[in-house]
Amino acid sequence: QAKQAGRNCFRSCEPDHTEQAKQKLEMEQDLRTALKEEQLFLVYQPQVNPDNGMVIGVEALIRWRHPEKGIVPPFRFIPLAEETQLIIPIGNWVLRQACMQAKEWLDAGKPVKMAVNVSNIQFSQDDFIIQVQQALKNTGLPARWLELEITESVAVKQLEWVKNRLHELKALGVSLALDDFGTGFSSLSYLKEFPIDKLKIDRSFIMDICHHRDESVMVKSIIQMAHGLGMRVVAEGVEEATQLAFLAQLRCHLIQGYLFSPPVEASRCTQMITEGFKLPKVEFFGCEDK
Ligand code: C2E
Ligand code: MG
Ligand code: MG
Ligand code: MG
Repeated sequence: QAKQAGRNCFRSCEPDHTEQAKQKLEMEQDLRTALKEEQLFLVYQPQVNPDNGMVIGVEALIRWRHPEKGIVPPFRFIPLAEETQLIIPIGNWVLRQACMQAKEWLDAGKPVKMAVNVSNIQFSQDDFIIQVQQALKNTGLPARWLELEITESVAVKQLEWVKNRLHELKALGVSLALDDFGTGFSSLSYLKEFPIDKLKIDRSFIMDICHHRDESVMVKSIIQMAHGLGMRVVAEGVEEATQLAFLAQLRCHLIQGYLFSPPVEASRCTQMITEGFKLPKVEFFGCEDK
C-alpha cells in the first residue's frame, strides 16, 4: 500500500518539484530586480505609550511592490531572501532607508525611535557592525534613535560570539530589542547574559489575554520580569481595547497593534506621530475563564 502510494507520488510529485523550483528561481530573479529597481519600500507601525497615546517609536516593516503580483508581504519573500543571501543587500537597504526616515522625523521636531528587524544571516555577517555604523553616519541619525530587533534564534549560535556582537552594537549607542519573545527556544539565562533593552511580547500571547487564563498569567509574568530586569516591554498585535486596558494596568511600556494602526506609509505615520492617539476608555475586570 505504502509502496503504491510512494510510486504514485514519484510519478505525480516529480513535475511538481520542478515546477516549484522554477517558481523559486523566477522569484529569486524578480527579487534581484526588485532591489535594483526600487520595488521594495518600508511601512511604519507606531508604538504607543498607553498612558497618553503618544507615539514613542515605530517599527519599519518591508513590503515589495511586484509589477504583476501587487504588494507582496514579507513572509512570502524573506525566507527566500535568506536562502539566497539576498537578505544581506536587502537588510542593508532597510537599515539605510529606516535611518533616513528617522532622521527626517528627528529634524522635523518629531523624534521617534526607529525599530528595524535584523535577520540572523545579516546579524552574522562580518561587516554587520560597519553596516550599522555607516547607515547612521551617512544619514546623520544619532545612534540612540535606532533600535535593532533580533529574535531568540540568534542565540542558537555560539553564545559568546553572539554576546560579543551584541555588546559591539550597544557600544555604537543603538538599542536592542528581542522580537517575538516567548516563541523561540532560548533559555531565560540569555536574558541576563545579553545586553537587551527591550522585550517584544509575541502577538500569539497577546491574542488570548482577555479570554484565556494561561496567556494572561504568562504576559503578566513577562511584563513583571521585564520590570525587574530593568528592560522595556512592548506588546505586539494589540487589537482590542480590553487588551490595552489589561496591558496598561500591568504597566506595559508600549503598545503596537491594529488597535492604534496597521503599518502605514511614512506620510500617514507623520500625522500619527504629530497627533498621537485618543485612548479608548475601557477598564479591565479580569479574564473570562478563571
Ligand atoms: P515582526 O517583526 O514580529 O513584525 C510584526 C508583524 O505583525 C508585522 O507583520 C505587523 O504588520 C504585524 N502586526 C502588527 N500588529 C498587528 C495586529 O494587531 N494584528 C495582526 N494580525 N498583525 C499585526 P509583517 O509586516 O507582515 O511582517 C512579518 C514579519 O516579517 C516580521 O515580524 C519580521 O519578522 C519580518 N520582517 C518584516 N520586515 C522585515 C525587514 O525589513 N527585515 C527582516 N529581516 N524581516 C522583516
Ligand atoms: Mg519585529
Ligand atoms: Mg514580532
Ligand atoms: Mg519576527
